[in-house]
Amino acid sequence: MSESSHTTTSIDCYCGRRAVIRTSWMNENPGRRFLSCLNYKDGGCGYFHWQESPLCDRARTIIPGLLRKINRLDDENKKLIENKQNLEEINKKLIERNKILAERNRNLVQEKKKMRLMLVIIPLGFSLLWMILSKMNFGSKSAGLEMIG
Ligand SMILES: [Zn+2]
Repeated sequence: MSESSHTTTSIDCYCGRRAVIRTSWMNENPGRRFLSCLNYKDGGCGYFHWQESPLCDRARTIIPGLLRKINRLDDENKKLIENKQNLEEINKKLIERNKILAERNRNLVQEKKKMRLMLVIIPLGFSLLWMILSKMNFGSKSAGLEMIG
């Protein structure tokens, strides 16, 4: 007899403990409740009484199919929960990766700004240097001419 939870009653079983109500999930008696010893799973004292009359043929045919369907859906649900957890893990890793890439991007943008500034400063510096040198050169040429003349 397959069952999961149970309810304690005021009836004593053969070994003097409170008997419990359980639900059968076997194909012959799906959902049918029975009274048994608390230690039923381990054999117990053998106390056993059906609480309800047998199911009709229709219920005996339909209920096991529905139970199999429920079990299949439970299995699918477990897999979906597992997949969801895996996707959440992947998502966390991607968020971390995205943060790193965003930081790299910020650094590259800063580098780009520096490079642009250098592209302005260096030609300006060369221009200024050229102007200074050409003035000095011009000055020395004119000084040389003065000496010759
Ligand atoms: Zn017992």
